[in-house]
Amino acid sequence: MSAWAAASAEIDSEAGTGVVANLAGVQARVAAIAPTATLIAVSKTKPLSSIAAAFSAGHRDFGENYVQELVDKAASVAESNLEIRWHFIGRLQSNKAKLLCTTPNLHAVHTVHNEKIAAALQKHWLDVRGPEASPLRVFIQVNTSGEEQKGGCEPAEAPALATVVRDAPNLDLVGLMCIGKYSGAEGDASPDFRVLRERRAAVAEELGVDQDNLALSMGMSHDFETALEHGATHVRVGSTIFGARVYSQE
Ligand SMILES: *Cc1c(COP(=O)(O)O)cnc(C)c1O
Repeated sequence: MSAWAAASAEIDSEAGTGVVANLAGVQARVAAIAPTATLIAVSKTKPLSSIAAAFSAGHRDFGENYVQELVDKAASVAESNLEIRWHFIGRLQSNKAKLLCTTPNLHAVHTVHNEKIAAALQKHWLDVRGPEASPLRVFIQVNTSGEEQKGGCEPAEAPALATVVRDAPNLDLVGLMCIGKYSGAEGDASPDFRVLRERRAAVAEELGVDQDNLALSMGMSHDFETALEHGATHVRVGSTIFGARVYSQE
């Protein structure tokens, strides 16, 4: 039995039905504010059986943070030839760009934060997928809160980085992404969301495009509704769908 078949056999378990119910709840909350927004179910650290449960309910967009974990999960799903859309949303080092580009059904990378990463993705996407493949969709991550531990380019650098991505033939600029200051805790990330919107306007002006054609990936379990009210087109929700994550002690 394939790993995906084994995972699918657990869909009717208590855990599986919990995921399906949680997913439906989040979908309804998203649709109530922004019916066209994309909900990305963030499955990092969660087993394939949780993904299979959400998939069985018709969900197709999944987010992962760690390159090796994503590659392993994507390979298991690919064996069964399923239409799934993987979003990489984790911190990306250029020495992992090649491995990331091998991910089956990689739909988008949300965390391009400097020219070096953009260049590495451009090179490896072309090498791994070939010149006929459609370009890799990328978001530029902006550090909207100025916190050192948060990834992303400085807000002022976003327009210049956007031109680098625009000029890379095998990359397709989808939009901008941020992690709100208080995401994952109680609090208000509205200032971050406002900065990202304002940066989108600046990028659109720099590129001479309509800002409505640039997406905003922002909002997590604790603040996705606020993010949608600020114009998010993609929200990334993990624990509210799949339950709290347990990390081994570091
Ligand atoms: C983990 C993670 C999420 C999901 O977080 P939850 O609080 O579990 O919804 C969203 N975005 C990024 C970048 C993450 O790392």
